[in-house]
Amino acid sequence: MQSIMTMGEILVEIMAGRKGQSFRAPGPLAGPYASGAPAIFIDQVARLGHPAAIIGCVGDDDFGWLNIDRLRRDGVDTSAIAVCQNAVTGSAFVTYRDSGERDFIFNITNSASAQLQPEQVNQAVLKDCAHFHVMGSSLFSFRIIDAMKKAIEIVKAQGGTVSFDPNVRKEMLRIPEMREALAYILEFTDIFLPSGHEVTQLARSADEAGAIAEIFARGVREIVVKRGADGCSYFSADERIDLDALPVDVADPTGAGDCFGATFIACRRLGKTALQSLRYANAAGALAVSSKGPMEGTSGFAGLDALLAQQPQHLRHAVMEG
Ligand code: ATP
Ligand code: MG
Repeated sequence: MQSIMTMGEILVEIMAGRKGQSFRAPGPLAGPYASGAPAIFIDQVARLGHPAAIIGCVGDDDFGWLNIDRLRRDGVDTSAIAVCQNAVTGSAFVTYRDSGERDFIFNITNSASAQLQPEQVNQAVLKDCAHFHVMGSSLFSFRIIDAMKKAIEIVKAQGGTVSFDPNVRKEMLRIPEMREALAYILEFTDIFLPSGHEVTQLARSADEAGAIAEIFARGVREIVVKRGADGCSYFSADERIDLDALPVDVADPTGAGDCFGATFIACRRLGKTALQSLRYANAAGALAVSSKGPMEGTSGFAGLDALLAQQPQHLRHAVMEG
């Protein structure tokens, strides 16, 4: 089977040991944990038994090897991860406020992740790629945007499909070239995976229904909206499905969207229906928030099936139209 591929930041996350902990004073820390939105995404794809590969850069240091070892162990092809000698692996320190909101200290734009070169992207690297996933969070430099555009063009030219999770930060939308890049990627997107508030960010319409109609008019074929603890929705030209979130205890929300998206894409590629894929994605998001550590909540079909079997009553909320 041909693989699902993605490209972008690979980093470690180090978490404050307790809620409300300030980084302006010493305190307990947990980690390093393997992390980076595209890395979490591709780990989840591999956990489902689908061929998976990632293009990226890490430093030749323990944080980099922790990620490579972990991804390999879970079945990801890491041959397109460059180990660079002139920069260290990216990191993110995260602390949780009492409200549950997260504060991050990132070292990504000066890390090995920023060393990703358009030259790393070529037909040979992408030859087995049937589906390419773009994380908006990865688009933090013009060089990376160029690399991403190159990858998309190669995959599309060989008949592959593209998915896009905008993961937009507001600062990005204020930079005209960034807005343009996001709009460019959307033009090539087959499956769009925004969070609830992102649906209208790349459209003219201020309401969700209007924005969805606009995005379909631009050629996107499926839209899956992630709504955190409020569940998720699926839209195609003739179908809408809404699912409630599965009731779980939240240990750590980081990575839920990445696991959700990966599961939806892998399931669609494995031939499952939109409803089956959405159910599995919803379960993958729920399992992701139940585990501490951004990549620690990735799961195989056995874990997803076990959770779904416990919660059949929450899966009846499917609305079909058309
Ligand atoms: P991020 O803010 O990190 O970008 P996201 O918006 O991409 O996250 P979320 O909507 O937070 O992603 O989560 C993705 C999916 O995971 C949700 O649509 C839902 O299916 C599941 N999920 C998220 N939070 C919870 C929760 N508290 N309980 C159960 N399921 C959840
Ligand atoms: Mg997200």
